[in-house]
Amino acid sequence: MRSDHAIRSTESITVIGAGLTGSLLAVYLARLGFQVEVFERWPDPRRDDVPAGRSINLALAERGIHALAGVGLHHRVARFCLPMRGRLVHDDRGVNLHPYGQSSDEVIYSVHRERLNLSLIDAAEATKRVRVHFGQSLEAIDFDTGIATFRDHASNRPYERPARPIIGADGAGSAIRGAIEAYLGFRSDSDLLDHGYRELTLPPTDDGGFRLDPEGLHIWPRGELMMIALPNTDGSFTATLFMPKDGAPSFSSLEDLDDFRQFIHTTFPDAAPHLTELAEDLHEHPVGILGTIRCPHWHVDGRALVVGDAAHAIVPFHGQGMNCGFEDCEALGRIIAASETWPQAFAAFDAERRRNADAIADMALENYLEMRSSVSDERYLLQRSLALELERRFPERFVPRYSLVMFRRVPYADAKARGIVNREILVALTEKATSLDEIDYDEAGRLIAARLPPAAGPDSTALR
Ligand code: FAD
Repeated sequence: MRSDHAIRSTESITVIGAGLTGSLLAVYLARLGFQVEVFERWPDPRRDDVPAGRSINLALAERGIHALAGVGLHHRVARFCLPMRGRLVHDDRGVNLHPYGQSSDEVIYSVHRERLNLSLIDAAEATKRVRVHFGQSLEAIDFDTGIATFRDHASNRPYERPARPIIGADGAGSAIRGAIEAYLGFRSDSDLLDHGYRELTLPPTDDGGFRLDPEGLHIWPRGELMMIALPNTDGSFTATLFMPKDGAPSFSSLEDLDDFRQFIHTTFPDAAPHLTELAEDLHEHPVGILGTIRCPHWHVDGRALVVGDAAHAIVPFHGQGMNCGFEDCEALGRIIAASETWPQAFAAFDAERRRNADAIADMALENYLEMRSSVSDERYLLQRSLALELERRFPERFVPRYSLVMFRRVPYADAKARGIVNREILVALTEKATSLDEIDYDEAGRLIAARLPPAAGPDSTALR
């Protein structure tokens, strides 16, 4: 091993992207003693207007909270988080709460993306070891010389500087991932969904109150499409409409304001009176794309690595993209601290995280179907109630997959594998049953004892 690959805590690390993953990663690296140079293409959001970009609010869950807590930032973030106890499903049965878990601490949090990002940037700079260079885009990287080319947006001039090691936290369209692909000669698998999304505004009442119950994540499942809404601390909700990009109905068939308004009124009659800014939403919020990126090599020996969405962009239906990126930061910090060389650290990170990123990518895709249609299906509802009942009766062994992903930190791949067994057990037990009274719980006990080893205990990092 060449000695220039040895990890020295005095050296400087270049991070591309001051989004959610890049900013938290900078804090982790600074805590290990490194100098961190972060390059972000947008101007400093504390001084200039920066486009809001994707999703105004996000669901923060145990994995993300734990990674924030690892560098003491969870309390700071708690100030702008709202707890959500379950899904509030709006369908022809009215509005019904489907709790996420059994206990009062099994909640997820709605968090404002921009406030969270700013808070992480502030925390990174407060370490005094992180410099964030705003308005600077990475344009190219030569892995042989370790020289990166950036463009300064104010002067529109390119310039070069040494950048080894370099870590790409530059999102789904990552330039670093593109450079790794070109250098190692492969193409990542990028699978775009034929559904897109548009954000819609649901403002507060005139006196600043919430128009809907703020303690849950609202879902309007409608088969091929759905709308969700998450609360914000100012009394508003951010609603997101997910539906096909083409066909009827679709975003392309509903570009005209009157048609769009009519569609919203017929499809979501109880929400429509609250969606008072449809004209602005249609004009200002373009249809976003959704997709999964699977990149087979996340690093070039010890020279470059990708993390967060740059390595593994996923669809948002499990609310885990950011949580997974935050878990990357915690994992990379721990692995670097235990490694002697950069190639060793990056290879270990790739080995630990890739199978888990693949697993959450699959589970996120499966969750879309569950959210937009299964939540209104009788058999699904029976199996869901049974899952909670089995968890009550056999808490050591039967843990619903949703809880494994959102409230525990078992590796995603293990959550996925246990979820498959859970499902088979639920299907077998409900084959002839129409209600929980008809379930054979002795048979349930036998199946669970035979097929599900005890699960790791609950993880719960108090946010407040
Ligand atoms: P990004 O957020 O994309 O940040 C990348 C940063 O790099 C940006 O600041 C960008 O400007 C910068 N950059 C890019 N290229 C360059 C360059 N060449 N030079 C310099 N800088 C560059 N996740 C959850 O956990 N919970 C949710 O509820 C949730 N909801 C979502 C809803 C929607 C509609 C969508 C689309 C996503 C959702 N996600 C959610 C996923 C989450 O948004 C992403 O996983 C998260 O933003 C990834 O963070 P990141 O920092 O890795 O990438």
